[in-house]
Amino acid sequence: MSHPCPGGCGETVPDAMLSCRPDWYWLPPGVRSEVWATKSMHITQPRRMAALAAAVQFYVDKGRTPPPEWMVIVDELSHQEKEGT
Ligand SMILES: [Zn+2]
Repeated sequence: MSHPCPGGCGETVPDAMLSCRPDWYWLPPGVRSEVWATKSMHITQPRRMAALAAAVQFYVDKGRTPPPEWMVIVDELSHQEKEGT
């Protein structure tokens, strides 16, 4: 299985990786290590979702446009934060 790179570069990457190589190494070390630390967790687990959302948000902050399936994660997390869970 593969998925579109969350860096918005148009690359397709294998599921074993989050982003294409340049976009992965572009992430701040703290974000990268948290994505790596949670890689065996399911997306529905809050820590994993937070790690992925931080990565997607980084790309957004840098002016990239992540694919919609990635933006869903950021939207979902901000929704949960509003509810205080
Ligand atoms: Zn990329």
